[in-house]
Amino acid sequence: MDGRAFLSHRVATPNGIRPGAVLVRDGKIGGFVPASEIPANIAVHDFGESSILPGLVDSHVHINDPGRTEWEGFETATRAAASGGCTTLVDMPLNCLPATTTVAALAAKRKAAHQRCWVDWLAWGGLANDNASANQDEIEALAAAGVAGFKCFLIYPGIEGFTMVTEPELRAALPHVARTGLPLLVHAELPGPVDQATQHLRDADWSRYSTYLQSRPEEAELTAIRLLLSLCREYKFRLHIVHLSASAALVELRAARAEGLPVSVETCPHYLHFCAEEIPDGATLCKCAPPIRSRDNREKLWQGLKDGIIDLVATDHSPCPPAMKRLEEGNFSTAWGGISSLSIALPVMWTEASRRGFTLSDLARWMCEEPARLAGCNARKGRIAEGYDADLVIFEPEAEFVVTEERLYYRYPISPYLGEKLRGVVRATYLRGQLVFSSGEFSGEATGHEVRP
Ligand SMILES: [Zn+2]
Repeated sequence: MDGRAFLSHRVATPNGIRPGAVLVRDGKIGGFVPASEIPANIAVHDFGESSILPGLVDSHVHINDPGRTEWEGFETATRAAASGGCTTLVDMPLNCLPATTTVAALAAKRKAAHQRCWVDWLAWGGLANDNASANQDEIEALAAAGVAGFKCFLIYPGIEGFTMVTEPELRAALPHVARTGLPLLVHAELPGPVDQATQHLRDADWSRYSTYLQSRPEEAELTAIRLLLSLCREYKFRLHIVHLSASAALVELRAARAEGLPVSVETCPHYLHFCAEEIPDGATLCKCAPPIRSRDNREKLWQGLKDGIIDLVATDHSPCPPAMKRLEEGNFSTAWGGISSLSIALPVMWTEASRRGFTLSDLARWMCEEPARLAGCNARKGRIAEGYDADLVIFEPEAEFVVTEERLYYRYPISPYLGEKLRGVVRATYLRGQLVFSSGEFSGEATGHEVRP
């Protein structure tokens, strides 16, 4: 018998933090029992005061593979994930080539991922103007082929190869999306307010963070979210707002929830950690869209999590070659927007959450259970419960470390978090019962595979 017991004083179960043993057999969780009820003759790993969490599910990752592996790739992204306690990634359909807007592109992605993943993964399909207005059959075909849902942009995505969609295109596509029953993830900024603000900033100093912040006003998010909520009411599709930054939208999102609209909301570690007041001029590593806003806004996002208006936290891990960050010129206009944090999202979140009185159970809800639900893998992933995949993280909540390049593990170790002292260390990560990362070392083989929703 190959059963094992993972014992700890602090296990993040769906019923809260409890002492006990997670039973593991054949890669699955066999149950959660008090220490006194561990069956005889099975191996016991006693992790003592270290806590055991479900493996994180990161529902917003840009792996950029195939096609832009000089930016990231399945191997580096999944290693970074394993090192950060994340055992399931959901890959965004853009920045890779081809973009995942057709069944053929999904097949190319599967080929690229084959035997190169250290954790499990799923794919989002893309909704862009090639399949929104013309080849709409691809929407249902992608759903049948196994994407977890769809992603679209209401504003220029910052890259060629994936287009934004307009309201008429959305209207043409939404009946198809609704029929699949899958969520539509939307980058919710409208171009109007951004274009208008940017016009007035033509001669401004773009090495200043405040210039960039002014160029992406809250209004762009607010108007986009209003449009999406009205379309959600009309077409009854599952709407998911990715990377919410503007806390001003929380009032309307709360009302939409109360009305019973099927809407969910995500934010990212960088919006919950950084604030505009502290971003130095020229610090293009902090550029992302929508932008990191004020300290006051950050605290309101935390309140949104507390109130349950924001359901989950995903990284929006969005790497690029260092040259694209224009670090020398420090120009916020030309630098690539994106922040990578796959390997450190858990300690970033724990550092911020613990000082605001949240618990590891809250983290497990925001970073495991809810993203798994969004991606439709919540019957297998995101919980320490019988029958679930034995994806487990051994986490030392009281330990601290300083973020260094060696701990990042993704393709290029650039990060706005470098040099920061964070709370919580990932000691080990298990994927379906197998140790994949422990104390700075990867072990075993790349046995991660695609999870079909
Ligand atoms: Zn993204």
